[in-house]
Amino acid sequence: DLVYLNGDYLPLAEAKIPVLDRGFIFGDGVYEVIPVYDRRPFRMADHLDRLRRSLAGIRLADPYGDAEWQALFAPLIEAADWPDQGIYIQVTRGPAPRDHAFPKDVRPTVFIMAMQLSAPPPEVVEHGVAAITAEDNRWLRCDLKAVSLLANVLLRQLSVDRGCAETVLIRSGHLTEGSASSIFVVRDGVIMAPPHDNLVLPGITYDVVVELAGQAGLPVALRPVTEAELRGADEIWLTSSTKEITAVTRLDGQPVGDGRPGPLFRRLHAAYQVYKHQVMRG
Ligand code: PMP
Repeated sequence: DLVYLNGDYLPLAEAKIPVLDRGFIFGDGVYEVIPVYDRRPFRMADHLDRLRRSLAGIRLADPYGDAEWQALFAPLIEAADWPDQGIYIQVTRGPAPRDHAFPKDVRPTVFIMAMQLSAPPPEVVEHGVAAITAEDNRWLRCDLKAVSLLANVLLRQLSVDRGCAETVLIRSGHLTEGSASSIFVVRDGVIMAPPHDNLVLPGITYDVVVELAGQAGLPVALRPVTEAELRGADEIWLTSSTKEITAVTRLDGQPVGDGRPGPLFRRLHAAYQVYKHQVMRG
C-alpha cells in the first residue's frame, strides 16, 4: 500500500496532510483516475490532458509534465499487489490559513495512490444494471474533475438507497451524465450522447467508445438528448474508467428496450475488450 505524497513514497497509513489543507477545508482541488491494465496505463496522455485542463480551470499550474507524472506513477504501479489498477491523483491548492481567497506562496499538495481495479463481473455484462434518474443539481463547471463531489455523492446515494447501480442525471429536460459515469442512448440504431460542454465531465471512456463505434461503422450522433429520448431508448449504456462499458437495463423500474443488454452494447463491449488487450500487449 505504497503511496506518493509531496515528493515522498510511503505506506498509506503514514501519509498525512495538514488539517488546513484547502482540499479538506474548501474542496479546493482536482483529481484524476487513470486505469492501468496488466501494469500498463490506458490512455494516459488523455487523462493527463484532462488533469491539466482541470488544474487550469481552478487556476493551478500543472506541477509536472507528462514524463514526470509517468515517472511518479511507475514505483506505485510496480509495488501494487494487483496488475489492474486505478491510479488516483489528487492535487489541491495546499495548506494555508483559512480564507476563501487564494493564498500567496503556497505549495500544492500532490497525492497519488494505486487502487485495485476490477472489470465488471460476468453477471453485470450478461444482465446489465438498474439505474434511477434524478434532477442534476450540480454546479455549472461539471467539466472540471473537482474533488468537491458533494452533489455527486448525494445523487449517487439516491440510487444506492434503491438498490441501483447509478443515478442518471437530467438538467432542464436533457440528459447530462451519471453521478460517476458518462451515459449513451441508442435509438433506432443510432448511438447518441450529449456533447462535451460545461455540464458534463469529458469522459475518456466516452471518447474510446465513440472511436470504437466509428471504427465499426456504426452511426454516432453527439448531440443533446432529451429526457423523452432517454426514456424511450432501445439501449442505455454507462461508461467510465472503472466500469468500462455497462448496459443499463432498467431505468426508474421500467425495462430499457426488452430489458436485456442490446446488440450494439454487445458489439461495443467486445470491441472495448479487444482494444484493452491490445493496450495490455503494448
Ligand atoms: N462523469 C463523471 C461525473 C465521472 O465521475 C466519471 C468518472 N470519472 C465519468 C463521467 C467518466 O469519465 P471517465 O470515462 O474518464 O472515467
